[in-house]
Amino acid sequence: MLQQTQVETVIPYYMKWLDKYPTLKNVAEANETILLKSWEGLGYYNRCRNFKKAATNIMKEHEGQIPTDYDSFIKMPGVGEYIAAAVLSIAHDQSHPALDGNIIRVMSRFLKRKKLSPYNRKIIKNHVQMWMEFGSPGDINQALMDIGSQVCKPNQANCYKCPLENSCMARKTDSPEIYPSSKLKKQIPNYDVVTGIIWKNDKLLILQRDEKNHLGGLWEFPGGKMKNGESHVQTLTREIKEECGFDVDVQSKIGSIKHIYSHFSIKMTSFHCVSKNNSTLNTTQPYKWIKPAQIKDLPFPKANHKLFAILNKQGWHV
Ligand code: SF4
Repeated sequence: MLQQTQVETVIPYYMKWLDKYPTLKNVAEANETILLKSWEGLGYYNRCRNFKKAATNIMKEHEGQIPTDYDSFIKMPGVGEYIAAAVLSIAHDQSHPALDGNIIRVMSRFLKRKKLSPYNRKIIKNHVQMWMEFGSPGDINQALMDIGSQVCKPNQANCYKCPLENSCMARKTDSPEIYPSSKLKKQIPNYDVVTGIIWKNDKLLILQRDEKNHLGGLWEFPGGKMKNGESHVQTLTREIKEECGFDVDVQSKIGSIKHIYSHFSIKMTSFHCVSKNNSTLNTTQPYKWIKPAQIKDLPFPKANHKLFAILNKQGWHV
C-alpha cells in the first residue's frame, strides 16, 4: 500500500484491510472484486491484484510461509528490488540496501554524486552495503530513510541536525541541495473523455476494464476519448457503438469532472443515454446491468466517484 502513497493516506485503508483480511489465507481466498473494493480510492490497483497473486502463491508453493531468501522473495508478483530489500532488511536483518528516493538523495549528498547514473547508483548501493557490515541492516535502511524525510529534505538540507554532518561531502559545499541534479518534470497530457449512463428501465450498464490495462478490474461506464473535431454526442455514439454494438439516444448532460492520474489527466463529461430500438448488447467486456444502489458493492475509479457525487445531488434517473 505504501508504494507511491503517503503514510497518512494508507493508514485508514491498512486498518480496515487488517480487520477484513487478517491473514494471507484470507487474501488468497478472497474474491478479487471484493478485494479491489477495499482498495478503491488508493489507486495503483495492480498492487492489490499482485498482493492477491502473491498470497495465493505463498499458500500453494510455500505452505503459507512467506519465503525469507532474496531469490524466492523477489519472484513474488509485485515485488521488486526495493520491496525485497526493505522487507528482508527490516523484518529479517538481511544486508540489502533499500534505495528509495530519500536514501538516494541522502547518499548522493553524502558522497557528492550529482548525476544519478547507473555507475553512481552502484557506488551508493555499495557504500550503504559496506555500512551494513557494521550495524543492523534494517536499522541502517530505516535511519537513512528518516534522515531523508526529516533532515536532508529535497530543498532544505538541515545539516546542523544531521548525524552524518561530520563526514558528508556535500556539507562542505555552500549548497548541498544541488545534489543530486533534479530531473525536469514532464508535462502530463490531458484527455477529453465522454461517458454515457445507458438506462434500461431502472438499471444502468457498467463494463469491467481489462485486467491488463490501467485501472484493470474496476468497473466504469461506456465511453472514451474525444477525437479532433468531434462533439460530445459524436464521440459517445461512436464509442458506445464500438464497445457495446448498439446505437444510443444521447439525452441530458449530467456534468463534467476533472481528475489527475499519475501520468495523465482527464476531463470527463457524462450524459444520460438510452439504447435505440431496444437493440441488443454485443460486447467482449464483462458487463452488468445494475441499480444505482449497487454501485457501493463494486470498485470504480476515483473519477467515477466524482460523477456519482453529481448524480447523488441531481437524482440518478434520466
Ligand atoms: S550533512 Fe547535510 S547534506 Fe549531508 S546528509 Fe546530512 S543533511 Fe544531507
